[in-house]
Amino acid sequence: MVNGTPKTICERCQGTLAPDQEVDLLTGMTLVVSRCINCGRRTRLEKEPRPLTPKPVNRDAPVKSSAKPDT
Ligand SMILES: [Zn+2]
Repeated sequence: MVNGTPKTICERCQGTLAPDQEVDLLTGMTLVVSRCINCGRRTRLEKEPRPLTPKPVNRDAPVKSSAKPDT
């Protein structure tokens, strides 16, 4: 058995697997899966789902400190 490379071929239909992410809104858990674009079979890439955590978003928030004065 050769381990180490992630599977990119569907075991069932030899189709291409695309990375996908399942989100369970009821439990607030997320799970990374790979989904076959051919037959739709999903394979878990992670052992356990993990809780959704908000990512720190580095936005350029518009600064509303001073509006343009109307002249
Ligand atoms: Zn498939």
